[in-house]
Amino acid sequence: MARRRAGSPDQTVMGRVRAWSPLLRRFAERMHGAVRAHPRWALAAVSLLALGLLMSLAGTDRSAPDTTLAEREIRLPPAVRDLARGEAPTPLDASESREMPSIEAEPETDAALRDWTLVEVRPGQTLERIFRDFNLSARLLHQVVHLDEHTRGLARIRPGDEFGFDFDHDGNLLALRADLDEERWLIVEQDETGLTSRIEPRALEARVVEASGIISSSLFNAAKGSGLSDNMTMRLANIFGWDIDFALDIRSGDRFALVYEEVWRDGEYLRDGAILAARFVNQGEAFEAIRFDAGNGPDYFAPDGRPMRKAFLRAPLNFTRVTSNFNPRRFHPITRQMRPHNGTDYGAATGTPVWAAGDGRVIRSAYNNANGNYVFIQHGNNIITRYLHLNRRSVRVGDRVRQGQTIGTVGMTGMATGPHLHYEFLVNGAHRNPRTVDLPAADPLPPELMDDFRRTGTPLLAQLDELQGPTVLLAQREQTRCEQGDTDC
Ligand SMILES: [Zn+2]
Repeated sequence: MARRRAGSPDQTVMGRVRAWSPLLRRFAERMHGAVRAHPRWALAAVSLLALGLLMSLAGTDRSAPDTTLAEREIRLPPAVRDLARGEAPTPLDASESREMPSIEAEPETDAALRDWTLVEVRPGQTLERIFRDFNLSARLLHQVVHLDEHTRGLARIRPGDEFGFDFDHDGNLLALRADLDEERWLIVEQDETGLTSRIEPRALEARVVEASGIISSSLFNAAKGSGLSDNMTMRLANIFGWDIDFALDIRSGDRFALVYEEVWRDGEYLRDGAILAARFVNQGEAFEAIRFDAGNGPDYFAPDGRPMRKAFLRAPLNFTRVTSNFNPRRFHPITRQMRPHNGTDYGAATGTPVWAAGDGRVIRSAYNNANGNYVFIQHGNNIITRYLHLNRRSVRVGDRVRQGQTIGTVGMTGMATGPHLHYEFLVNGAHRNPRTVDLPAADPLPPELMDDFRRTGTPLLAQLDELQGPTVLLAQREQTRCEQGDTDC
């Protein structure tokens, strides 16, 4: 359950910049007076220095992981997207899908050299009120807000927002600084020619951290005990959700370990970053995933180079909404007859979104007495998926659907005693167990990328071994014991 911070920013470009920054700062302090006296000259000098520093870094640091912070869009199973719609224990911070700037030198520009007076907005406080407190005119505020499309946002401020003000000796406004977003400042400056605005990036730093845990009651509890946020737990589950049915297959004793990034700014934790590598041991079977960019943005791959992503979701609904103790009933509760059960039943609250398990075309969307509202989807590879007892259907026959698209909601229409989704998976017309059927995988990494992939993956896997080695061995031993017929299993 240990959570260790193995942050080694010194190995990154940022580390080098940080090592430099005390020097820069001292220089900056000395320059401060000069800046006041000759702002343009000083700015030019500092810019040149910063440019020189950047160029020297770029020149010497080819081996540095320049993609550590560069997150491009990752297509995730829809659980995460659903989280973003507020159906989750905690809202998603959307960080996984946002374009982040790669690490650059700390912006020791003229804005960093200004003597900012910081103001944190209190509840009920308006920018107008703050301006008045500084004896700044309503006219100036009006000019600032109506300067351009970025400054217009200043009209809507919230408690906790932070503003920086820079004044001359007479208390006139020289510059105003606001958070445009977590990675960028909005800076409004005033000189003889009037007001100008510009956007300045803020330096972000990625720190590599680790977490591991063993599940005794629930994945979320175990993850929480390891210091993971619910959002990170969902992301972990989504990496393995193609192989593991997190709604029904998680057992006490399952284990996980992950190496991930935290994003820090100005020495403060900002949010969680990307998961770099993770391992999940489910009922004795270990799954591993490594984050790697094969040229189409980062994605997750097994150590042998196969993508974790599959053409089908293991479970067509959000596992956090499924009651884990739901028992598929072989003895039919309504007809009172034993009947073969051709699918998996997921007990979930009425209204829980049901997703298309894979890309395909709707071949049935109808109602009958047995199935209630039901949808059948035809996919490639002669696969058909069926969804029964829906409360609502949101697709029609002939519709093309994408993997993860909502096709209806859980209900108890037709012959059902409680709200649940009955889900079937047919290959060439024969029913297969949706929870265990081998799902068609996407193409593996091309051979020419495998060296690069192993260079990325090997140290991360070693780190996971270090985190979880003994427990994995234990899991394997337990499995062997079980295979040998131990009755405790
Ligand atoms: Zn069923």
